[in-house]
Amino acid sequence: MTSSTLRIGILGFGGLGQAAARLLGHKRQARWVAVADRKGYAHNNTGLDPDRAIATYQAQDSVGYLEPEGTLSNESISELIQQANVDGYFLALPNLPNTFMASVVEQFIEAGWRGVLVDAIKRTSAVEQIMALEPRLRDCGITYMAGCGATPGLLTAAAALAAQSYAEIHHIKITFGVGIANWEAYRATIREDIAHLPGYSVDQASAMSDAEVSALLERTNGLLHLENMEHADDVLLERAGICRRDQVTVGGVVDTRNPKKPLSTNVQITGRTFEGRISTHTFTLGDETSMAANVCGPAFGYLKAGVSLHRRGWYGLLSSAEVMPQFLS
Ligand code: NAD
Repeated sequence: MTSSTLRIGILGFGGLGQAAARLLGHKRQARWVAVADRKGYAHNNTGLDPDRAIATYQAQDSVGYLEPEGTLSNESISELIQQANVDGYFLALPNLPNTFMASVVEQFIEAGWRGVLVDAIKRTSAVEQIMALEPRLRDCGITYMAGCGATPGLLTAAAALAAQSYAEIHHIKITFGVGIANWEAYRATIREDIAHLPGYSVDQASAMSDAEVSALLERTNGLLHLENMEHADDVLLERAGICRRDQVTVGGVVDTRNPKKPLSTNVQITGRTFEGRISTHTFTLGDETSMAANVCGPAFGYLKAGVSLHRRGWYGLLSSAEVMPQFLS
């Protein structure tokens, strides 16, 4: 480890949080030093062990039981913020209710914390709440990287890059295929997807018991078909000046009973070149790449980019459509 090794924290230790911890185990430039879940937190400046943390969480439902680093607490995030020495946090938290992530970011601001925060939030209205905090983030010395998962995230960034061939953008269409072996590994992700189905709201999906979610998935054969989702790729591409939000559409299929993707995740960018030709660029993710790989990889790439901005004294908010991720090796 060098003195420039990034000290990374993970908030939320469900499907994505655990995948993020495993991924960091493969990185030389970063060390996983802090984690919080709903019932507890743990931190260790010399590094946390992903295997031990995951085994503890799966057996006892909280990293607070980790020996000797863990603490059980109902104020896990605020206590961790005060105690741990972290350059950047990946926010792998559920955004249920829809104001939850913004309230967590406010906790960082109110604590006077300085560093980098990266989210993988999906809903437009949730990202807008974070954007409204931009002046306070700047004043506080936080570099906030918004919408840095897969979609929004990797696909939004690909759209921003592909847009450069055109003089005018007509349509950006994101279609995702997600395959997971069982929905319980990603409870928040699936509840938030259900909230996009016709007849459901975020509050309704959030209030559903696990048995009710299982019963819904039983009726749909484990599949969720999602169309015209309220997905923040639209507001991020609009903020970056690439197109209007109503020119961006997001939909997809989630299979909660099969790790194989039901379709290939892709983004199509249609526009007109300066010579007047209309064309479509398509960027397709490899079918073998999991949701976890396509969310956590970009999140840490943006975290690294955020740290280099922070070290140069740049504070405020940027999104996956405005800055390139850097590769964390
Ligand atoms: P999950 O349900 O598997 O895990 C959530 C974790 O958060 C749990 O460890 C839980 O204990 C913890 N938590 C809940 N409330 C907490 C609190 N008050 N304080 C501290 N910890 C708390 O979640 P998941 O399926 O891994 O999803 C995480 C988020 O990632 C969701 O919001 C989801 O929408 C998002 N996501 C984004 C993308 C993308 O491409 N942008 C893709 C997938 C998921």
